[in-house]
This record gives sequence, structure tokens and C-alpha cells, in this order.
Amino acid sequence: MQQGLRAEIRAVVAAADFEARCDSWMRGFDPAFSRKIAEHGWIGMTWPVRNGGGGRSNEERLVVTEELLRAGAPVAAHWTADRQIGPSVLRHGTDDLREEFLPAIMRAEVVVCLGLSETEAGSDLAAVRTRAVQVEGGWEITGAKIWTTAAHVATHAYVLARTGPPESRHDGLTEFLVDIGTPGLSVRPIRDLVGDHHFNEMILESAFVPDRRVLGAVGNGWTQVTEQLAFERGGVERYLSTYPLLVAAAEAGRRSPDRAVTERIGALAARLVSLRRMSLELARAIDRGEAPTRLAAELKLLGTLFEKDVVEVARYAFDVCGAEPGDLALLDDGLITIPSGSIRGGASEIMRTVIARQEASA
Ligand SMILES: Cc1cc2nc3c(=O)[nH]c(=O)nc-3n(C[C@H](O)[C@H](O)[C@H](O)COP(=O)(O)OP(=O)(O)OC[C@H]3O[C@@H](n4cnc5c(N)ncnc54)[C@H](O)[C@@H]3O)c2cc1C
Repeated sequence: MQQGLRAEIRAVVAAADFEARCDSWMRGFDPAFSRKIAEHGWIGMTWPVRNGGGGRSNEERLVVTEELLRAGAPVAAHWTADRQIGPSVLRHGTDDLREEFLPAIMRAEVVVCLGLSETEAGSDLAAVRTRAVQVEGGWEITGAKIWTTAAHVATHAYVLARTGPPESRHDGLTEFLVDIGTPGLSVRPIRDLVGDHHFNEMILESAFVPDRRVLGAVGNGWTQVTEQLAFERGGVERYLSTYPLLVAAAEAGRRSPDRAVTERIGALAARLVSLRRMSLELARAIDRGEAPTRLAAELKLLGTLFEKDVVEVARYAFDVCGAEPGDLALLDDGLITIPSGSIRGGASEIMRTVIARQEASA
């Protein structure tokens, strides 16, 4: 599919200097690499030409994202803005907001972090307590977000806050785009199990956000965020984060053939083909203007189960067939990062609930 575009992106990736890693869309932060991708028009590539976008299809974007993750390329600096905030601004933003954000995202100048989760609101975002109060010319936001990936390197924070009364649940939420340097906004690191810093706590203390930075309609945050999560959950990162490790495991099996290893790699390859078909279906649904929430939940659920198995099969393959230099570093990466796949972007139990509810109401 799209062989010309695929060859083009492969050439750019091959000429770049980086070390392939698992989870490169979250941990591979390299603004210079993102700028290079931007120069080729591969950020915002599906947005309408009238908004400065590339006017290409989601099927073409799928090829680009596939190739970047297959290579384990450092794409974290532009990933979130390109994947979900740009599309959200496009769907719900005012003309001013579109003009402010879309070209800058396309130039890879905007790094967005997602301020959704709170200590008492992760799976249940309707429990968000961060509060936005209307003041002259805008809003003052007060609250604490947690697990905010990349807030320490971001230029902007997406913040989901309560603008309705405390008991308003789904009905009283509003989305904001906040400059990370806003007075009253501070970021504290949270180190992970191995001491890496990608998580943060993001504190807002009467942080002023002008009216023009409200994303969409006041009080419509729930509908908008649900739609945004379809973009977050339905990408190839849900099953290609470990692709470099899968290739290393297959190579180990090729160097020292072993029947059990071959069978396990073969089974993974078959599942990968199915996941790619789902991705294609999803990209085509987005091209038709749909927000395919259920298909995105299915892809995320099956993709994260697949990734866990990639790590286990790689461990087995290296054990039985031996490992080359670099293989164990990839395995370490996978062992450390992939267990979180079934939590981030919505836990697997929540994906099952989304699928079941949508099936019941179909
Ligand atoms: C690597 C990583 C990166 C992240 N990055 C960000 C980020 O950038 N921004 C951000 O806002 N958040 C981020 N998160 C947070 C993530 O979105 C939440 O951890 C996730 O939504 C789960 O919420 P929680 O941790 O509060 O767990 P809880 O909601 O407390 O859930 C705990 C357990 O209970 C289960 N559970 C909860 N409710 C139900 C239910 N109704 N039915 C059945 N089971 C249920 C869950 O499945 C889970 O197993 C990140 C998380 C990880 C691991």
C-alpha cells in the first residue's frame, strides 16, 4: 500500500541518526528529528489545505506513522499534537485557535502534554476536579493533574477542567489549551521504576487562560474528549511500539533456527497482519469523517495484548537462539515500558466496557 510514500519515508528514516527503541513515540524525544519530519509535510498531513494542512488521507498518514514506529524513530516531540490535539483544534477550535496552533504544530514547534488524569480521576474522567472559574477576559484554573507525560518538555498543556458545578459529572467539563509558562502552572517530575523521567505532576494554581484558548464549547468537554480518545487509542503505536524488538527476535530465530521460536514468531506475524487490517479500516473510517470509538478501543485492547506477547516471545527467542549486541537493550526497553500499555490511554477493562456498551447500543 502506498509504496512510493513508503519508500520516501524509509529513505528519510534510514538517513537519520538515532538508536531504534521500543516505545519511541513516548520516550524518543528529539525536536530536531520532528522538524525533519515536518519539513517533509508529514505532520498535519491529513488536515485540509485551506487550514494549511497537507490534504492527504488518513490511509497515507497510516503509512508514515507505521514506518516511523517500525524504525523505532524518536517521534515523541510531535506525536501527541499531530495525533489528537491538531485534529481536535480542527474539529472544535475557532478560526483564531486554528490559525494559532495548526501551522505551528505542522512546523513541529508545538509540544503538547495531556492534562487529563488526576489522583481521583483516571478511568473515570467524569470525576475531574480541576476547576476553571470565569474571570474577566478568560478563566482561572486550579487543580492538580498526574501522570502528565512530557509536561517538562512541552510548550503547551491540554487541560480538561470542570466549569460546571462539582456534581455536574459529564456535563460540566471544558477543554483548554494552556501555555506551559503560564504563571501559576508548575511541573514536578515523577520518576518511573528505573529512574527515567517522562511522567510529571502538573499543578495549576489560579492559572489564567484567556477565552480564546477554550477549545470548543464550554461544557462540551466530555463529548469532545471522548472523540479525541478515539484518535489517541486507535493509532499504530498500540501495536508497533515493540516492532524493533519483534524484528530482533525474528532475526535471532533466523540465525539459530528453532521450531518453537519459529511457531511463536509466526503466530505474532499473523496477529500483526490482523491488527494492520484493523488500522486500515480505522484510517478509512476517519477519512469518512467518523470518530470510530469502538474500533479504536478494540485496536487498543488487542494491540496491547499483542505487545505483551512480543516481549515474552523475544525473551524466549533470545534465550533459545542467542542475542546480538543491542538485542538485550531492546528487550530491557520492552520489559520496562510495555506493561504500562494496558493502562495508558485507558485501561484494558475500560476498553472492554466501551466495546460492550457500543455493541449493546448498536
Ligand atoms: C505510561 C503512561 C503514560 C500516561 N500518560 C498520561 C498523560 O500524558 N496524561 C494523562 O492525563 N494521563 C496519563 N496516564 C494516566 C492514564 O491515563 C491512567 O493511568 C489510566 O487512565 C488509568 O487511570 P488510573 O491510573 O487512575 O487507574 P484507575 O482508574 O484507578 O483504575 C485502576 C484499576 O481499576 C480498573 N477500573 C477502573 N474503573 C473501572 C471500571 N469502571 N470497570 C472495570 N475496571 C475498572 C482499571 O482498569 C485499573 O485496572 C498515563 C499512564 C501511563 C501508564
